Amino acid sequence: MQSSFDTTLIHGGLTTDPRTGAVNTPIFQTSTYAQDELGKHKGYEYSRTKNPTRDGIESLIAECEGGKYGFAFASGMAALGTILSLFKSGDCLIISQNVYGGTFRILDKVFKNFNINYKIVDTRDLNELSSALTPEVKAVLIETPANPLLSVTPLAKVAELCKKKGVLSIVDNTFMTPYLQQPLKLGIDIVVHSATKYLGGHSDLVAGLVVVDDENLAERIGFLQNSIGGVLAPFDSFLLIRGMKTLGLRMQRHCENALFLAEALSEHKAVEKVYYPGLKSDSEYEVQSSQARGGGGMLSFILKPEYDYRIFFKSTRIIALAESLGGVESLLCHPASMTHASIPKDLRESMGIAENLIRLSVGIEYGKDLLEDINQAIEQAKSNNGKLK
Ligand SMILES: *Cc1c(COP(=O)(O)O)cnc(C)c1O
Repeated sequence: MQSSFDTTLIHGGLTTDPRTGAVNTPIFQTSTYAQDELGKHKGYEYSRTKNPTRDGIESLIAECEGGKYGFAFASGMAALGTILSLFKSGDCLIISQNVYGGTFRILDKVFKNFNINYKIVDTRDLNELSSALTPEVKAVLIETPANPLLSVTPLAKVAELCKKKGVLSIVDNTFMTPYLQQPLKLGIDIVVHSATKYLGGHSDLVAGLVVVDDENLAERIGFLQNSIGGVLAPFDSFLLIRGMKTLGLRMQRHCENALFLAEALSEHKAVEKVYYPGLKSDSEYEVQSSQARGGGGMLSFILKPEYDYRIFFKSTRIIALAESLGGVESLLCHPASMTHASIPKDLRESMGIAENLIRLSVGIEYGKDLLEDINQAIEQAKSNNGKLK
C-alpha cells in the first residue's frame, strides 16, 4: 500500500516556517495583522479571511486530494452548509440514499426553508439517476460507501453523467479519505470531508474540509467561507495537520482489521449478514475495488434473531458504544436508534436498516483482541433456552 502519498502526508502543504525553520506549522493564534502602510500588507489582514496555520491544512488537503484549492471549516457540517450556500431558491440537489443524518437534516430542515430542495436517489443506479436529472437539479451529492449499509456509487460514471448535463458533482469522502479514494481524479467537482473522523483520526477535534480544482468554483467557495465565517481555528488546524501525518499508517491498519473482522463475522454462526465492500463476496466489491485502494474501516452486520442485540451492545469490553467513527479506537453504533433515528421506522426498514443491524468503526487495536471482544459479547447475547436474558 506504500506510495509517495505517504510522503505528501508528512511534507505536503506548508509545513515549515521560513523565519525560524520550525519543522512543524506554527500556531498563529492571532485575529489580525499589522499593515506596513495604507493598502500594503503581507498577505494577511484578518484571520477569518486568512490565517497561516489554516493555510497549512488547506494546502495539505488540496495536495492530498489532487486539487488546487482547499478550504478548512469548523466542522463537517460547516463545510457542507457553505457548499449548499452555492445554490439559490428554486434549485434542487440529488442526494444518495443513506447520506449522513446531519446532511439530510440541514437540507430538510434548513435549506428547504430557502426553497433549495432535495431528491433522494439510489446513485448506484445510473438509469434512475439520469431520469432524476430534471432541469431544476443543479448538483448531485454522493456518499460512497454510504452509511450504514456501505453501498457504493460508481464515481467516474456519475461524474461523466453530471458533466454531460451541466450539473455539479459533490462527494462526501469522509469514509474513504484521499488515502483510499480521490474523487477529483475521477472527474468529481467538489470533495467534502468531516475531518473529525479519519483525517483527524484521534477523536479529539471537530473539523471540515473542502477541495476543488476549478478556479471559478474556488473563488465562489472562498467568498462564501469568508462571508459565512465558519472557519477552522488555528489550534485545530494544527491538530488536524498533526493527525494527518499518520493517516497512511492508520488507514492501512483500519482496512486490515476491518477485513479480518468482516471475514470472521461472515463465517460466524450468530451472524446473518455482513456488509463490507472490501470483502470479495460483497455485492459492492467490484465497484469499490475499481475506484478505491481498500474497503475502509467501517463495517456493519446483522445478528441472528436468537441473539439479543441489546445485550450485545452492553457487553463489549474494549469496543465502546458511541456516535462518531474513524478514530484510532473501535466504536459500536446502533443505526436504528442513533445515527438514523430521525428517519421514520417504516422508511428506515425499507432501506435495510433493521433493528438488529450493528455498525462497527474498526480501530487500529490488535485485530484478534477486537474479535475476542466481539465473540464474548455475542456469547452473552445468546438467548437462554429461547428466552432472552
Ligand atoms: C460526521 C459526518 C459529517 C458531519 O461532520 P461533523 O464534523 O460532525 O460536522 C458529514 N458527513 C459524514 C459522512 C460524516 O460521517
